[in-house]
Amino acid sequence: MEKIRIGISSCLLGEKVRYDGGHKWDRYITDTLGKYFDWLPVCPEVEYGLPVPRESMHLVGSPDSPRLITTRTGVDYTDGILRWTQKKLKMLEEEDFYGFIFKSRSPSSGIGGVTVYTPSGMPSRKGTGIFGGAFLRHFLLFPVIDDGRLHDPNLRENFIEKVFVYKRWRDLVKYSGSIKDLVTFHTEHKLLILSHSPKHLSALGKLVASTKKLKHEALFSQYSNLLMESLQLLATVKKNTNVLQHITGYFKKYLSPDEKKELLEVIVNYHKGYVPLIVPIVLINHYVRKYDEPYLKRQVYLNPHPVELMLRNHV
Ligand code: SF4
Repeated sequence: MEKIRIGISSCLLGEKVRYDGGHKWDRYITDTLGKYFDWLPVCPEVEYGLPVPRESMHLVGSPDSPRLITTRTGVDYTDGILRWTQKKLKMLEEEDFYGFIFKSRSPSSGIGGVTVYTPSGMPSRKGTGIFGGAFLRHFLLFPVIDDGRLHDPNLRENFIEKVFVYKRWRDLVKYSGSIKDLVTFHTEHKLLILSHSPKHLSALGKLVASTKKLKHEALFSQYSNLLMESLQLLATVKKNTNVLQHITGYFKKYLSPDEKKELLEVIVNYHKGYVPLIVPIVLINHYVRKYDEPYLKRQVYLNPHPVELMLRNHV
């Protein structure tokens, strides 16, 4: 399988670029995700030209537009790092990459919950790093996460699923761009989108049904925005249960009363939190293969990412 390229804060790969000459190597990222992803490392502070080691920095001022200032000597690097950031974002537009894993809480790389100090020295955890915040504003709806959230099973599953969907979408736009393939893409992702947002599934369905009314570019751009917007909303136990119950409808004419009872029991057990999502999914995949159900066997929801990542064993 071709590896998917992901942007990443360099220190998470073990590169010794931190202010103290150290790194923040995350073995889950390199050893597990590294089997499927390859990396586009970015260290804003070093790429801007600061040495290793260097004086530590923090954010000061208003959380919306803080200043990046060294903690001991008070040197203000904000304008320089902002200029570098604008150039870097332009360069990243030219790169083929499908997600970004940021270092959490960094005044340069953080994408949320970064400490900002008021001029009187009071801390608030409402900031984003200078580069991380600018990235979010520039690449709207792009799959992003930080290493802190990556260790939350729900957020991790959501991020990785989003990366795989985004890669398939971008490949469709790049290699085909035909309406026929858009309709196929939509059909195959219906249940996955439903697990995030029934409202978005309905809006996307209407869009796909009105392909003749819209110019090609507008159609693809609107579809892309709605699709990625839907994936911003977490697939909860309640929403997954709704999808699983919806799936049982496709087996009406196939399952014996015993098989149907077993499937419904497994779905209830998932809903109550007794078993993880992987349990009903494995059973459904078994029935899909056994009865060769034509609609379900095309659904990405039943196989959204490599099973070896075991992402649905924990949600
Ligand atoms: S957090 Fe960002 S700026 Fe700091 S060392 Fe890591 S990559 Fe570089």
